[in-house]
Amino acid sequence: MDKVFNFCAGPAMIPADVLKKAQQELINWNDQGTSVMEVSHRGKPFIELAKQSEQDLRDLMGIPDNYHVLFCHGGARAQFAAVPMNILGDGETADYMNGGYWAQSASTEAKKYCSPNEIDITCERDGKTAILPAAEWPISDEAAYVHFCPNETIDGIEIRDLPVTDKPIVADLSSTILSREIDVSKYALIYAGAQKNIGPAGLTIVIVRDDLLGKAQSIIPSILDYTVQVDKESMYNTPPTFAWYLAGEVFKWLKEIGGVAEMQKRNEEKAKVLYDYIDQSDFYRNDVHSDNRSLMNVPFQLKNPALDSVFLEKADAAGLKALKGHRAVGGMRASIYNAMPLEGVQALVTFMQAFEQEHA
Ligand code: PMP
Repeated sequence: MDKVFNFCAGPAMIPADVLKKAQQELINWNDQGTSVMEVSHRGKPFIELAKQSEQDLRDLMGIPDNYHVLFCHGGARAQFAAVPMNILGDGETADYMNGGYWAQSASTEAKKYCSPNEIDITCERDGKTAILPAAEWPISDEAAYVHFCPNETIDGIEIRDLPVTDKPIVADLSSTILSREIDVSKYALIYAGAQKNIGPAGLTIVIVRDDLLGKAQSIIPSILDYTVQVDKESMYNTPPTFAWYLAGEVFKWLKEIGGVAEMQKRNEEKAKVLYDYIDQSDFYRNDVHSDNRSLMNVPFQLKNPALDSVFLEKADAAGLKALKGHRAVGGMRASIYNAMPLEGVQALVTFMQAFEQEHA
Protein backbone atom coordinates (compact mmCIF):
# COMPACT_ATOMS: atom_id res chain seq x y z
CA MET A 1 0.00 0.00 0.00
CA ASP A 2 1.71 3.22 -1.20
CA LYS A 3 -0.40 5.77 0.52
CA VAL A 4 -3.54 5.74 2.65
CA PHE A 5 -6.43 8.13 2.11
CA ASN A 6 -8.96 8.25 4.90
CA PHE A 7 -12.52 9.08 3.80
CA CYS A 8 -13.97 8.84 7.32
CA ALA A 9 -16.87 11.21 8.06
CA GLY A 10 -15.44 12.03 11.47
CA PRO A 11 -13.11 11.75 13.24
CA ALA A 12 -11.59 12.64 9.91
CA MET A 13 -8.23 13.23 8.25
CA ILE A 14 -5.99 15.87 9.80
CA PRO A 15 -3.42 17.59 7.53
CA ALA A 16 -0.21 15.54 7.49
CA ASP A 17 1.93 18.67 8.04
CA VAL A 18 0.00 19.41 11.23
CA LEU A 19 0.45 15.85 12.51
CA LYS A 20 4.18 15.95 11.76
CA LYS A 21 4.58 19.19 13.67
CA ALA A 22 2.56 17.81 16.60
CA GLN A 23 4.76 14.72 16.59
CA GLN A 24 7.90 16.86 16.78
CA GLU A 25 6.44 18.94 19.59
CA LEU A 26 4.92 16.09 21.53
CA ILE A 27 7.64 15.69 24.12
CA ASN A 28 8.78 19.28 24.22
CA TRP A 29 6.17 21.86 23.36
CA ASN A 30 7.06 25.54 23.27
CA ASP A 31 10.35 24.97 25.13
CA GLN A 32 8.40 23.79 28.17
CA GLY A 33 10.22 20.45 28.36
CA THR A 34 6.82 18.72 28.50
CA SER A 35 3.98 18.10 26.08
CA VAL A 36 1.13 20.57 25.68
CA MET A 37 -1.11 17.96 27.34
CA GLU A 38 0.77 18.28 30.61
CA VAL A 39 0.77 22.03 31.21
CA SER A 40 -1.81 24.05 33.11
CA HIS A 41 -4.49 25.65 30.99
CA ARG A 42 -4.12 28.66 33.27
CA GLY A 43 -0.39 29.07 32.64
CA LYS A 44 0.93 31.80 30.34
CA PRO A 45 2.03 29.50 27.48
CA PHE A 46 -1.40 27.88 27.15
CA ILE A 47 -3.25 31.19 27.53
CA GLU A 48 -1.14 32.52 24.65
CA LEU A 49 -2.02 29.47 22.56
CA ALA A 50 -5.70 30.00 23.36
CA LYS A 51 -5.60 33.66 22.35
CA GLN A 52 -3.69 32.99 19.13
CA SER A 53 -5.98 30.17 18.04
CA GLU A 54 -9.05 32.32 18.64
CA GLN A 55 -7.50 35.17 16.65
CA ASP A 56 -6.60 32.83 13.79
CA LEU A 57 -10.15 31.48 13.65
CA ARG A 58 -11.50 35.03 13.73
CA ASP A 59 -9.21 35.95 10.82
CA LEU A 60 -10.12 32.83 8.83
CA MET A 61 -13.88 33.27 9.21
CA GLY A 62 -14.03 37.07 9.43
CA ILE A 63 -15.80 36.88 12.79
CA PRO A 64 -17.06 40.36 13.80
CA ASP A 65 -16.14 41.85 17.19
CA ASN A 66 -19.65 41.51 18.61
CA TYR A 67 -19.34 37.71 18.48
CA HIS A 68 -17.69 35.55 21.13
CA VAL A 69 -15.73 32.44 20.20
CA LEU A 70 -15.93 29.55 22.67
CA PHE A 71 -13.86 26.38 22.79
CA CYS A 72 -16.18 23.85 24.43
CA HIS A 73 -16.59 20.17 25.25
CA GLY A 74 -19.41 17.80 24.46
CA GLY A 75 -19.54 17.75 20.68
CA ALA A 76 -22.32 19.15 18.57
CA ARG A 77 -24.82 17.01 20.43
CA ALA A 78 -24.21 18.94 23.66
CA GLN A 79 -25.08 22.06 21.67
CA PHE A 80 -28.38 20.50 20.56
CA ALA A 81 -29.37 20.90 24.23
CA ALA A 82 -27.34 24.02 24.98
CA VAL A 83 -28.97 26.11 22.25
CA PRO A 84 -32.57 26.05 23.51
CA MET A 85 -31.45 26.23 27.16
CA ASN A 86 -29.34 29.31 26.43
CA ILE A 87 -31.60 31.36 24.28
CA LEU A 88 -35.23 30.35 24.77
CA GLY A 89 -37.30 32.11 27.39
CA ASP A 90 -40.18 30.47 29.28
CA GLY A 91 -42.83 29.16 26.90
CA GLU A 92 -40.93 30.35 23.84
CA THR A 93 -40.45 28.11 20.84
CA ALA A 94 -38.21 27.86 17.79
CA ASP A 95 -38.34 26.67 14.18
CA TYR A 96 -36.20 23.67 13.24
CA MET A 97 -35.67 23.34 9.51
CA ASN A 98 -35.27 19.66 8.82
CA GLY A 99 -33.10 18.85 5.81
CA GLY A 100 -31.69 15.55 7.02
CA TYR A 101 -30.50 13.33 9.84
CA TRP A 102 -28.60 15.91 11.91
CA ALA A 103 -31.15 18.72 11.74
CA GLN A 104 -33.75 16.17 12.86
CA SER A 105 -31.49 15.04 15.72
CA ALA A 106 -31.10 18.66 16.89
CA SER A 107 -34.85 19.06 16.87
CA THR A 108 -35.43 15.81 18.75
CA GLU A 109 -33.09 16.96 21.52
CA ALA A 110 -34.67 20.43 21.61
CA LYS A 111 -38.02 18.76 22.39
CA LYS A 112 -36.77 18.16 25.92
CA TYR A 113 -36.64 21.92 26.47
CA CYS A 114 -39.37 23.35 24.25
CA SER A 115 -41.90 22.43 21.58
CA PRO A 116 -39.96 23.11 18.41
CA ASN A 117 -41.80 23.58 15.13
CA GLU A 118 -40.33 20.82 12.98
CA ILE A 119 -40.41 21.91 9.37
CA ASP A 120 -39.51 19.47 6.61
CA ILE A 121 -37.58 21.38 3.93
CA THR A 122 -36.71 18.37 1.78
CA CYS A 123 -38.37 17.80 -1.58
CA GLU A 124 -37.91 15.80 -4.74
CA ARG A 125 -36.56 17.52 -7.85
CA ASP A 126 -35.98 15.66 -11.13
CA GLY A 127 -36.24 12.37 -9.24
CA LYS A 128 -33.51 13.37 -6.76
CA THR A 129 -33.52 14.54 -3.15
CA ALA A 130 -33.36 18.32 -2.88
CA ILE A 131 -34.06 21.19 -0.49
CA LEU A 132 -36.85 23.72 -0.98
CA PRO A 133 -35.62 27.23 -1.86
CA ALA A 134 -35.17 29.14 1.42
CA ALA A 135 -37.76 31.74 0.38
CA GLU A 136 -40.36 28.93 0.59
CA TRP A 137 -39.48 27.82 4.12
CA PRO A 138 -42.54 28.56 6.27
CA ILE A 139 -41.05 30.45 9.21
CA SER A 140 -43.43 30.82 12.15
CA ASP A 141 -44.24 34.22 13.58
CA GLU A 142 -43.74 33.00 17.13
CA ALA A 143 -40.31 31.36 16.59
CA ALA A 144 -37.59 32.85 18.82
CA TYR A 145 -34.89 31.53 16.44
CA VAL A 146 -34.53 29.47 13.30
CA HIS A 147 -32.23 26.46 13.42
CA PHE A 148 -30.79 24.68 10.39
CA CYS A 149 -27.89 22.45 9.39
CA PRO A 150 -26.17 23.67 6.19
CA ASN A 151 -24.37 20.39 5.56
CA GLU A 152 -26.00 17.07 6.31
CA THR A 153 -23.00 14.80 6.83
CA ILE A 154 -24.93 11.54 6.45
CA ASP A 155 -27.30 12.43 3.62
CA GLY A 156 -24.68 14.36 1.64
CA ILE A 157 -27.01 17.34 1.34
CA GLU A 158 -25.73 20.92 1.39
CA ILE A 159 -27.88 24.02 1.84
CA ARG A 160 -26.17 27.15 0.54
CA ASP A 161 -29.21 29.41 1.17
CA LEU A 162 -29.86 31.04 4.50
CA PRO A 163 -33.30 31.20 6.11
CA VAL A 164 -35.07 34.35 4.87
CA THR A 165 -35.88 35.96 8.20
CA ASP A 166 -34.97 38.71 10.66
CA LYS A 167 -35.06 36.18 13.50
CA PRO A 168 -31.78 34.90 14.96
CA ILE A 169 -30.35 32.18 12.73
CA VAL A 170 -28.72 29.26 14.54
CA ALA A 171 -26.66 26.80 12.52
CA ASP A 172 -24.95 23.47 13.05
CA LEU A 173 -21.78 23.93 11.01
CA SER A 174 -20.11 20.71 12.15
CA SER A 175 -19.33 19.57 8.61
CA THR A 176 -19.43 23.01 6.94
CA ILE A 177 -17.09 25.12 9.04
CA LEU A 178 -13.97 26.33 7.16
CA SER A 179 -14.93 24.35 4.01
CA ARG A 180 -16.32 27.40 2.22
CA GLU A 181 -16.73 31.08 2.87
CA ILE A 182 -19.69 32.14 4.99
CA ASP A 183 -20.81 35.54 6.24
CA VAL A 184 -20.80 35.09 10.02
CA SER A 185 -22.72 38.35 10.52
CA LYS A 186 -25.80 36.69 9.00
CA TYR A 187 -25.91 34.16 11.86
CA ALA A 188 -26.71 34.72 15.54
CA LEU A 189 -25.16 31.46 16.71
CA ILE A 190 -22.91 28.88 15.09
CA TYR A 191 -21.67 25.63 16.58
CA ALA A 192 -19.48 22.89 15.19
CA GLY A 193 -17.85 19.72 16.45
CA ALA A 194 -14.14 19.82 15.63
CA GLN A 195 -13.60 16.32 14.30
CA LYS A 196 -14.11 17.09 10.60
CA ASN A 197 -12.43 20.31 9.49
CA ILE A 198 -10.82 21.52 12.70
CA GLY A 199 -8.94 18.77 14.48
CA PRO A 200 -9.48 15.86 16.84
CA ALA A 201 -12.79 15.00 18.51
CA GLY A 202 -13.38 16.47 21.94
CA LEU A 203 -13.57 20.12 21.03
CA THR A 204 -16.63 22.07 19.92
CA ILE A 205 -16.53 25.60 18.57
CA VAL A 206 -19.38 27.97 19.47
CA ILE A 207 -19.61 31.43 17.90
CA VAL A 208 -22.29 33.44 19.66
CA ARG A 209 -23.50 36.99 19.07
CA ASP A 210 -23.34 39.26 22.08
CA ASP A 211 -27.07 39.95 22.34
CA LEU A 212 -27.86 36.25 22.86
CA LEU A 213 -26.01 36.15 26.19
CA GLY A 214 -27.70 36.48 29.58
CA LYS A 215 -30.88 34.65 28.56
CA ALA A 216 -30.09 31.13 29.79
CA GLN A 217 -32.70 29.14 31.70
CA SER A 218 -31.82 28.78 35.39
CA ILE A 219 -31.61 24.97 35.18
CA ILE A 220 -28.83 25.06 32.57
CA PRO A 221 -25.64 23.21 33.59
CA SER A 222 -22.98 25.91 33.99
CA ILE A 223 -20.69 24.08 31.57
CA LEU A 224 -23.23 24.68 28.77
CA ASP A 225 -24.03 28.28 29.71
CA TYR A 226 -22.56 30.60 27.06
CA THR A 227 -22.49 33.54 29.46
CA VAL A 228 -20.45 31.56 31.99
CA GLN A 229 -18.10 30.32 29.25
CA VAL A 230 -17.64 33.85 27.87
CA ASP A 231 -16.86 35.17 31.37
CA LYS A 232 -14.39 32.34 31.98
CA GLU A 233 -12.84 32.52 28.48
CA SER A 234 -13.84 28.88 27.80
CA MET A 235 -12.07 27.77 30.97
CA TYR A 236 -14.94 27.31 33.41
CA ASN A 237 -13.53 23.83 33.78
CA THR A 238 -10.44 22.20 32.26
CA PRO A 239 -10.78 22.52 28.50
CA PRO A 240 -9.71 19.75 26.08
CA THR A 241 -6.23 21.22 25.84
CA PHE A 242 -4.65 18.85 23.32
CA ALA A 243 -7.60 19.15 20.92
CA TRP A 244 -7.46 22.94 21.31
CA TYR A 245 -3.72 22.95 20.54
CA LEU A 246 -4.18 20.82 17.44
CA ALA A 247 -7.08 22.98 16.26
CA GLY A 248 -4.78 25.98 16.57
CA GLU A 249 -2.22 24.23 14.37
CA VAL A 250 -4.90 23.44 11.77
CA PHE A 251 -5.90 27.13 11.74
CA LYS A 252 -2.26 28.13 11.10
CA TRP A 253 -2.02 25.54 8.29
CA LEU A 254 -5.19 26.85 6.68
CA LYS A 255 -3.94 30.43 6.86
CA GLU A 256 -0.67 29.39 5.25
CA ILE A 257 -2.34 27.71 2.28
CA GLY A 258 -4.41 30.81 1.57
CA GLY A 259 -7.36 30.69 3.94
CA VAL A 260 -10.96 29.67 3.43
CA ALA A 261 -11.30 31.16 -0.08
CA GLU A 262 -8.45 28.97 -1.35
CA MET A 263 -9.80 25.98 0.56
CA GLN A 264 -13.23 26.44 -1.00
CA LYS A 265 -11.66 26.47 -4.48
CA ARG A 266 -9.84 23.22 -3.73
CA ASN A 267 -12.95 21.64 -2.21
CA GLU A 268 -15.07 22.56 -5.24
CA GLU A 269 -12.47 21.04 -7.55
CA LYS A 270 -12.28 17.81 -5.53
CA ALA A 271 -16.07 17.41 -5.35
CA LYS A 272 -16.42 18.06 -9.08
CA VAL A 273 -13.95 15.30 -9.96
CA LEU A 274 -15.95 12.78 -7.93
CA TYR A 275 -19.49 13.87 -8.88
CA ASP A 276 -18.54 14.13 -12.58
CA TYR A 277 -17.27 10.59 -12.54
CA ILE A 278 -20.35 9.25 -10.73
CA ASP A 279 -22.70 11.10 -13.11
CA GLN A 280 -21.20 9.70 -16.29
CA SER A 281 -21.29 6.15 -14.91
CA ASP A 282 -24.21 3.69 -15.08
CA PHE A 283 -22.56 1.62 -12.38
CA TYR A 284 -22.62 4.22 -9.56
CA ARG A 285 -25.19 6.84 -8.62
CA ASN A 286 -25.69 9.71 -6.20
CA ASP A 287 -29.31 10.49 -5.27
CA VAL A 288 -28.93 14.16 -4.33
CA HIS A 289 -29.92 16.91 -6.77
CA SER A 290 -26.96 18.92 -8.07
CA ASP A 291 -28.42 22.06 -6.38
CA ASN A 292 -27.83 20.49 -2.97
CA ARG A 293 -24.88 18.19 -3.34
CA SER A 294 -22.46 18.39 -0.45
CA LEU A 295 -18.90 19.55 -1.02
CA MET A 296 -17.77 17.54 1.98
CA ASN A 297 -19.69 14.25 2.02
CA VAL A 298 -20.40 12.34 -1.16
CA PRO A 299 -22.68 9.34 -0.68
CA PHE A 300 -22.90 6.98 -3.62
CA GLN A 301 -24.58 3.69 -4.36
CA LEU A 302 -23.54 0.77 -6.51
CA LYS A 303 -26.16 -0.31 -9.03
CA ASN A 304 -25.79 -3.78 -7.58
CA PRO A 305 -25.71 -3.49 -3.76
CA ALA A 306 -24.63 -7.14 -3.53
CA LEU A 307 -21.18 -5.83 -4.53
CA ASP A 308 -20.98 -3.32 -1.65
CA SER A 309 -18.88 -5.49 0.63
CA VAL A 310 -16.46 -6.49 -2.16
CA PHE A 311 -16.08 -2.83 -3.10
CA LEU A 312 -15.30 -1.86 0.50
CA GLU A 313 -12.87 -4.71 1.00
CA LYS A 314 -10.92 -3.97 -2.17
CA ALA A 315 -10.95 -0.22 -1.56
CA ASP A 316 -9.58 -0.76 1.91
CA ALA A 317 -6.82 -3.03 0.58
CA ALA A 318 -5.95 -0.28 -1.94
CA GLY A 319 -5.52 2.24 0.92
CA LEU A 320 -8.90 3.93 0.44
CA LYS A 321 -10.27 3.76 3.96
CA ALA A 322 -13.65 4.21 5.66
CA LEU A 323 -15.86 4.44 2.57
CA LYS A 324 -18.82 2.61 4.10
CA GLY A 325 -21.97 4.73 4.06
CA HIS A 326 -23.77 5.53 7.32
CA ARG A 327 -26.07 2.73 8.42
CA ALA A 328 -29.08 5.05 7.96
CA VAL A 329 -28.33 5.43 4.23
CA GLY A 330 -26.26 2.38 3.24
CA GLY A 331 -23.98 2.21 0.21
CA MET A 332 -20.78 4.24 0.23
CA ARG A 333 -19.81 7.68 1.41
CA ALA A 334 -16.61 9.53 0.62
CA SER A 335 -15.97 12.36 3.06
CA ILE A 336 -13.58 14.76 1.42
CA TYR A 337 -12.91 17.37 4.08
CA ASN A 338 -10.25 20.07 3.94
CA ALA A 339 -7.37 17.72 4.75
CA MET A 340 -8.18 15.36 1.85
CA PRO A 341 -5.89 16.24 -1.05
CA LEU A 342 -7.10 16.19 -4.68
CA GLU A 343 -4.74 13.25 -5.12
CA GLY A 344 -6.91 11.21 -2.72
CA VAL A 345 -10.06 11.90 -4.72
CA GLN A 346 -8.23 11.03 -7.94
CA ALA A 347 -7.06 7.77 -6.40
CA LEU A 348 -10.65 6.97 -5.44
CA VAL A 349 -11.93 7.68 -8.96
CA THR A 350 -9.19 5.52 -10.49
CA PHE A 351 -10.18 2.70 -8.14
CA MET A 352 -13.89 3.15 -8.96
CA GLN A 353 -13.13 3.00 -12.69
CA ALA A 354 -11.16 -0.23 -12.33
CA PHE A 355 -13.86 -1.77 -10.11
CA GLU A 356 -16.53 -0.82 -12.63
CA GLN A 357 -14.58 -2.40 -15.48
CA GLU A 358 -14.13 -5.57 -13.52
CA HIS A 359 -17.74 -5.93 -12.36
CA ALA A 360 -19.96 -4.17 -14.93
N1 PMP B 1 -24.09 17.61 13.46
C1 PMP B 1 -23.50 17.20 12.34
C2 PMP B 1 -23.77 17.94 11.07
C3 PMP B 1 -22.63 16.11 12.36
O1 PMP B 1 -22.04 15.70 11.25
C4 PMP B 1 -22.39 15.44 13.59
C5 PMP B 1 -21.43 14.28 13.71
N2 PMP B 1 -21.20 13.54 12.60
C6 PMP B 1 -23.05 15.89 14.73
C7 PMP B 1 -23.88 16.98 14.63
C8 PMP B 1 -22.83 15.23 16.06
O2 PMP B 1 -21.59 15.62 16.49
P1 PMP B 1 -20.89 15.11 17.83
O3 PMP B 1 -20.59 13.67 17.64
O4 PMP B 1 -19.68 15.99 17.91
O5 PMP B 1 -21.84 15.36 18.96
